[in-house]
Amino acid sequence: MLEQTIAFLGAGNMAEALIKGLLRAGNAKPESIIATGRRGERLEMLQRTYGVRTTQDNLAAVREADVVVLSVKPQALDKVLVQVATAVDPHKLIISVAAGVPIAAMERRLGAGARIIRTMPNTPSLVGMGACALSPGEHASEEDLAVATRIFQSVGTTTVVDENLLDAVTGLSGSGPAYIFLIIEALSDAGVKVGLPRYTALKLAAQTVLGSAQLLIETGAHPGQLKDQVTSPGGTAIAGLHTLEAGGLRTTLINAVEAATRRARELG
Ligand code: NAD
Repeated sequence: MLEQTIAFLGAGNMAEALIKGLLRAGNAKPESIIATGRRGERLEMLQRTYGVRTTQDNLAAVREADVVVLSVKPQALDKVLVQVATAVDPHKLIISVAAGVPIAAMERRLGAGARIIRTMPNTPSLVGMGACALSPGEHASEEDLAVATRIFQSVGTTTVVDENLLDAVTGLSGSGPAYIFLIIEALSDAGVKVGLPRYTALKLAAQTVLGSAQLLIETGAHPGQLKDQVTSPGGTAIAGLHTLEAGGLRTTLINAVEAATRRARELG
């Protein structure tokens, strides 16, 4: 159980996922969570559903908090930083989920000594299956990293990378859900093409992706080894694999991650 008071500035989808995860995992008490936002009815809903405290006043929330999670959209972040800067002192840990905003830009607003951890979560966090990378800034301690890890482990797995690798993380796991949804949709189209009803095809496709990932993670086996297990001599899987290789699936996926990483770099 985290003892700190945690303020979420911008209680949208990502903040709600984290609040839900923290409470479900028993990692925080509702009364030690403060959520801020602009829309009164959304704040009322969060208060009603999760029992957390809410306010429209970012500055007041930061004053009370030990840990501040910056969860507004990247375009809104600079304004919020300017608004709360006077209340940020070296006792507070600042965690950002805003895509593409460098630690240096946040330090410029909050002061060079600010304890900042920048993160890149992904949308499966909304169902507790996220993959999040964390990059501690120069002034964040081991203890700070442990606190941030605890928060994000409430909604999935975490990994620590240097900040200069966060664009690559954005290209792989940050943007990755979009690739996988496309693959699931294509597989279910394929199922329909070979005669399955749409719903049956979609259910089979999604569960195949989920189950294959789970099998890989639980066994710790190399993906090539698991692929070989499904591939009997002269069988069906090798016929399908041959077609995927001929279509350049590997190269296409590598190009996609590379393009998204490049785009993240341009936007950052
Ligand atoms: P969202 O639009 O659902 O949430 C943003 C919230 O901030 C909204 O509720 C909005 O009302 C509120 N807000 C706007 N201006 C504000 C202000 N001045 N003060 C207080 N609140 C304000 O967006 P989201 O999907 O939750 O994304 C939030 C952040 O998370 C973004 O910076 C995004 O880059 C990052 N992120 C999201 C995902 C994801 O999967 N959704 C993945 C990686 C990173």
